[in-house]
Amino acid sequence: MAFTRGRPALHLVTPLEHEAPAPVISFCGHCGAHPPAAAPSRVCADCGLGLILESRADVAPKVGDAFLILDRTLAVCAVSEAAERLLATTEPDVVNQHVTALLMPANAEEKTGTSLSTAVAWAARGDSGTRTTVVRPANTFGIRLTARITSCGAPQAALVVLE
Ligand SMILES: [Zn+2]
Repeated sequence: MAFTRGRPALHLVTPLEHEAPAPVISFCGHCGAHPPAAAPSRVCADCGLGLILESRADVAPKVGDAFLILDRTLAVCAVSEAAERLLATTEPDVVNQHVTALLMPANAEEKTGTSLSTAVAWAARGDSGTRTTVVRPANTFGIRLTARITSCGAPQAALVVLE
């Protein structure tokens, strides 16, 4: 239609893509499954263990990803199945504990980049950015993991995906 053909110029003046509201999707805090948008339950139908959370679609964990959910006090809210294996722990053992029960900064002095605690504090306040930092499992030396930290909810919390 002539009318729609006349409109594309509008795209040139829209703000940069990262400023547009990103689509939000649901994911299970334990297995990472993505339930249908109108899922009736807050508990995951796939694994029956995790609560359904939401985050930006581009940063949401995938099934089988190792990730943690932390609140703004850096307490552990959830540990994914893959993170349990990666960190040699189980969720009931560490839930409500401080994140340092599971992860430590890989660089003692944190010379570069954002520290885990700063990134988690930002994300748990709802900051829409993504931050990465290098960590290691608290119980293992010699392993380095990249932690990608973004916001999720609800309630508002920090999603820490380990890569
Ligand atoms: Zn699940």
